[in-house]
Amino acid sequence: MTVYLLHFSEPFKHAKHYTGYTDDLPRRMQEHRRGNSARLIQVIHAAGLTWQLARTWPGAPRKFERYLKDSYKNAPKLCPICYPKNFREGPANE
Ligand SMILES: [Zn+2]
Repeated sequence: MTVYLLHFSEPFKHAKHYTGYTDDLPRRMQEHRRGNSARLIQVIHAAGLTWQLARTWPGAPRKFERYLKDSYKNAPKLCPICYPKNFREGPANE
């Protein structure tokens, strides 16, 4: 199973991310693009926003998705789109 993180093009109310859990990531992404999946994604589409897959955690346990859902407001640094410098390869030079 894979836990994944979607990053929205703009914040919607206070949401800027969506976390989900799937055993078939490509199929799940298709479902999200068609808008026939999570309610939050439907609302995002209806508001004219877009999203992209920011990050995946293959093999993560379901409780990790819950942890992200519960804590994500306080831990946006897990998103490489919001905080690219946290995900730079190699040693930091500054
Ligand atoms: Zn983000």
